[in-house]
Amino acid sequence: MSFTYHEPPDVAETIGLLDRFGEEAAVLAGGTAFMLFWKQGLIRPRQVIGLRRCAALRGIAVDGNRLWIGAMATHRQVERSPAVQRRLPALADGFGQIASIRIRNQATVGGNLVHADPAQDPPTLLVALGASVVIAGPQGDREQPLESFFLDYFTVALEPSSLVTGVRIPFPTPGTRVVYRKFLPRTVDDYATVSVAAAARQDADGRIEALRVTLGSVGATPIRARAVEQALVGSRVTSGALADAAALVRDEVDPIDDARGSAHYKREMSRVWTMRALAEVVT
Ligand SMILES: Cc1cc2nc3c(=O)[nH]c(=O)nc-3n(C[C@H](O)[C@H](O)[C@H](O)COP(=O)(O)OP(=O)(O)OC[C@H]3O[C@@H](n4cnc5c(N)ncnc54)[C@H](O)[C@@H]3O)c2cc1C
Repeated sequence: MSFTYHEPPDVAETIGLLDRFGEEAAVLAGGTAFMLFWKQGLIRPRQVIGLRRCAALRGIAVDGNRLWIGAMATHRQVERSPAVQRRLPALADGFGQIASIRIRNQATVGGNLVHADPAQDPPTLLVALGASVVIAGPQGDREQPLESFFLDYFTVALEPSSLVTGVRIPFPTPGTRVVYRKFLPRTVDDYATVSVAAAARQDADGRIEALRVTLGSVGATPIRARAVEQALVGSRVTSGALADAAALVRDEVDPIDDARGSAHYKREMSRVWTMRALAEVVT
């Protein structure tokens, strides 16, 4: 089955094409997920709209107290960006943990977020950082917390005729420690069996002032471990308190049995890797 390929020069024309072709159309970024779905017959768009000419979708920039990453920025560009390495090193580190260099050179941030495979890495890390997604559509631009963007397996809150233009990530308050860890029992370029992102800030007395913990691969979407956060915020840290809080994550995740382990095993690994991530961000 064939399709007609378009390569509009800007976002406005892209939205115009999406609006005109409706359900017949799909956008193409790096193609790493798109082509797999195409080959398996899961998608059959008659009109394919390539995004690579849209300059507004490219680039990584510091914008006041937030970082802007354009939807067409590749994983490798985020990993290697001097601005990201300097201002948010945990983000560069997290993007450096994705797949292989070959995939990271091709796959884009926007494509990753819209593909919404819950085993992907950026959603988990970006939700822990409090990022928001910027969406352009026929009615103009809107910004939405990334946490509410993911609705289900491979399903996001994106209206027809709309396009992700980028993500905005607030720089963490000074003193915040951030870490992203993924459990890879099979190969280093695999998807995670469980992944955990944690961001924590403590006051001068060691009391936890702010904490966000997010898990990936153990539910339909990235999961905020709110019970873990609530158990620890406001308290001074002991190793017993960290272990007790990490154990709460078992009731927050919702894993499935698959090739990377049973649901029971992933629940237990969620506890173990949450504990490890907490031990790195809390002193
Ligand atoms: C071998 C392999 C290993 C991988 N391992 C990992 C891993 O370890 N960790 C990880 O996180 N990911 C991994 N991935 C997934 C990869 O990160 C995603 O496939 C990639 O980020 C998708 O981006 P893309 O630019 O290729 O998107 P595409 O494949 O071009 O598009 C994906 C989907 O998003 C839509 N889309 C793309 N851009 C936009 C936009 N700006 N606005 C609206 N819709 C858009 C497309 O229509 C399509 O539905 C792996 C992929 C492969 C092939």
